[in-house]
Amino acid sequence: MTTTAFWDDLLVGDELAHLATEPAREARTAPLPEQLQPALSEALARRGIEELYAHQAEAYAAARTGGNVIVTTGTASGKTLAFNLPVLDALSADRHARALYLYPTKALSQDQARSLAELGVPGLRAAIYDGDTPTERRRQIRGWANLVLTNPDMLHVGVLPRHDLWGDFLHNLRFVVVDEAHVYRGVFGSHVGNVLRRLRRLARIYGAEPQFLLASATIANPGELARALTGEDATTVEDDAAPRAERTVALWNPPLLDAELGLRASALGEASRLLAALAGRGLRTICFAKSRKSAELIHRFACDRLDSATAARLAPYRAGYTPQQRRELERRLVEGELLGVTSTDALELGIDIGDLDCAISVGFPGTVASLRQQWGRAGRRGHGLAILVASEDALDQYFMREPPALLERRVEAAILDHANPRVLDGHVAAAAFEAPVDETDTATLGPEALERAPHVPELRHTPRGWVWAGKDAPAPRIPLRSTSPDAFLVVDASTGDVLGLAERERAYSTVHEGAVYLHLGRQYVVRELDLHARRALVEPFDGDWYTQAKKETTTAIEEPLRVERRLGLELSFGRVSVTEQVVAYQKKAVADGSTLDTVPLDLPPTTFDTEAVWFVPRPHQLEGLEAMPLLLSSLHAAEHSLIALLPLWAMCDRWDIGGLSTNHHLDTGAPTVFVYDGHAGGVGIAQRGFAQFEGWVADTVRLLEGCPCERGCPSCVQSPKCGNLNEFLDKAGALTLLTRMSNSG
Ligand SMILES: [Zn+2]
Ligand SMILES: [Zn+2]
Repeated sequence: MTTTAFWDDLLVGDELAHLATEPAREARTAPLPEQLQPALSEALARRGIEELYAHQAEAYAAARTGGNVIVTTGTASGKTLAFNLPVLDALSADRHARALYLYPTKALSQDQARSLAELGVPGLRAAIYDGDTPTERRRQIRGWANLVLTNPDMLHVGVLPRHDLWGDFLHNLRFVVVDEAHVYRGVFGSHVGNVLRRLRRLARIYGAEPQFLLASATIANPGELARALTGEDATTVEDDAAPRAERTVALWNPPLLDAELGLRASALGEASRLLAALAGRGLRTICFAKSRKSAELIHRFACDRLDSATAARLAPYRAGYTPQQRRELERRLVEGELLGVTSTDALELGIDIGDLDCAISVGFPGTVASLRQQWGRAGRRGHGLAILVASEDALDQYFMREPPALLERRVEAAILDHANPRVLDGHVAAAAFEAPVDETDTATLGPEALERAPHVPELRHTPRGWVWAGKDAPAPRIPLRSTSPDAFLVVDASTGDVLGLAERERAYSTVHEGAVYLHLGRQYVVRELDLHARRALVEPFDGDWYTQAKKETTTAIEEPLRVERRLGLELSFGRVSVTEQVVAYQKKAVADGSTLDTVPLDLPPTTFDTEAVWFVPRPHQLEGLEAMPLLLSSLHAAEHSLIALLPLWAMCDRWDIGGLSTNHHLDTGAPTVFVYDGHAGGVGIAQRGFAQFEGWVADTVRLLEGCPCERGCPSCVQSPKCGNLNEFLDKAGALTLLTRMSNSG
C-alpha cells in the first residue's frame, strides 16, 4: 500500500525546490549470537527479539574482541540494542561486572532506564544516579546497581572527585556507554573528552580497563570522534541493516517576494499551510520550529486554516512538560486522536513520540544529523514524507539550490579539542585532586596534561607527582559548557532560575543591557548586566524585535602553526588574539529585519586567545578590486559567506565562529581575511576549515553564484551577527575573488 496520493498534489509549484524518494530497504538480519548468556536470550525472546540486524551482530562481535566500538547507523535503526547486547551479556555472565551509561540529558537517561527495565533481564540492576537522586538513595545505588545511568556533569562533579565511594564500582567497571556521542562536540565535547580521560585513569588506578561503546548520529568522522572523546581507537560500525520504509523528501522554499533584496515569504506561513493541508487529510504530522514563539505561531496559523473539529486535533509540544504530560500527548498521537504536533527542537534527542506519517522541519536545524533525526520520525508506519522549509539563512538557501550537498554528501564532522588549555587546565587540576598526576598518567590523560601541569597555579610538584594544593575540589568550578571559568550567569529575575552561562568573551555582545536573549526557544530581555558580579538579569519578553550588537574587532597574529600554499595563496592556521568592543546595539523587527532603533553602549573591550585560519589574497586575485572601499567590501562579503558555510563542514553554529577582514592588517601588511573560533582557545572549528579549505571555498563560490539577489542579501553575504551591521559588503567582488582562488586550486 502507498499513501503517495495523499500528498502528491500538495508538492507542486515554484516552492518545491527538490523532490526525491529514498527507496524502501529490506532488513539484513543475523541470528542471535550463540555465545549469548541463556538468561539474556530468553529475555530477548520474551520481547519477541529472535534475531538481530546485521549491524547489531557486528557491534556485538566487535565488542566481544575487547575493543571500543562506535555505532553510527541511522535514526531508529536499533543502536540501543547494539550497545546493550554486549553489556547485558557481560553483566549476566558476571554478577560483579559493572557498566556506566552516559546520557546528555536526564530525560534520555529516564527513557533508557525504562526500556532496560522492560527488557526484564534477570540479574540486571539498573539505576539512575544524577542531580535528582535523593542523598539517602545514593549510597544504596553505588553498592547495589550493576548498571548506572548518569550524565557527564554528574560524572564530573559527583562521581570522579568522590571516587573513594565508587571504588568497588570502578574496580569492576567493564563498559562505559556513551550514547548520542555527536552531541559531545565543540566546547561541551572538549570538556567531556577530558572527563572520560579522567574516568579511564581512575578506573586504571582501581585495576580496570573499561571498554567504551559509543553511539552517534551519522557523521563524517565517527572513528575520529570516538578517539577524540576517549583517547583510544574504536571500531566503527556504520553499515545500517535496519529496514526502512520508502520516504519522500521535499525541499520547500518560500516564494521570493523581492529578488533584488532577496526577500522571501515567511517560512512559518508556508509551514503552517503544509501542516494544515497534511493534518486535514488525516496524516499524522510533526512540525519542528527553532523557537517556541515560531512553534506557537505555526500552530495558530495552521488552526486558522482548518475547521474547528480538525483544529482541535492539533497541539503544540513544549520543553518543560512533565513526564505524565508527555505520555498523554504521545498516547493521543499514537491513537490518532491528535493529528498534528508543533514542537521546538526539544523532541529531537530520541524521545519516542510514536509513528508518524510526515515531519516538517522549519529552517535547517543546524546540523544534518539533527535534520535526519527530525525526519526520522516520518514514515515509521509506512511511506513517509519529510520536508525542509527553508528560512532566508544562507545555508538554508544553499541547500535549496544544491540539494546533493544536503542529501548525498556526508561532510559534516563532529569536532572537539580536549587539549585546548582553557579546557584542559581545569581537568588537570581536577585529576590532581583525584590522585597525584605523574608520567604514568600520560597513557590515559594524554601527554598534553603533563605539559600543562606546571602552568596550573594550584598544583605543586612533589615526589609523588603533581598534587592539588588548593582548598576545595576544583571540579565544581569548571562548567562543562564554557571555556572560561569566569563566565556570566544568566538569571531569570522573575523566578531566580539560572537559565545558562554566557562566556566572558561573548557576554558583552549577547547579554548586554537591552539584548533579547533566547533560551530553549523562549525570549528574554536583559534588564541589567552586572560586570562585577558577572551576572545578567533577564525577564521574559514578548516583543517582536531582536537585537544585534555593533562591535569593533581587531586581531593580532600570535603564532602561525601551519602555513601552506593552497588555492594560489598562502593559507595559515594558528593562534591569534581577538579584541572586541561592543559599542552599540540595534533593535530589529522580527517581521522584516528593519532597524527600529540604535542604542549606544559603554562597555570595556575584551581580549581572548583563539585559533584562526587566515589568508592574504595574491595581487592577481584582487585585480580590479584594489580601490577602496571596494577592496574592503569584497573581503568582508567573502568572510561572511565563508562563515555561513563552515557549519556544513564542521558541526557548529554560525555563532561559534567569528571573522575579521581588513584591507591592511598590521601583522601581514596586506589585505587579509580571518575566520576564527569564537571560543577562547579554539575547539577545532578553524582547524577543520584549514583542512577542508578547497571544498569550503568551492561551496562558497556556489552559494554566491546561485543567490538570485543582485547586490547581496541575508541569504548570501549578509550576516545576522555582523559587528559592522552589514555595512561595506560587495557580493560581486567576493565572488570574483573566491572564484579566482577556487580556479587556482
Ligand atoms: Zn543573495
Ligand atoms: Zn561583518
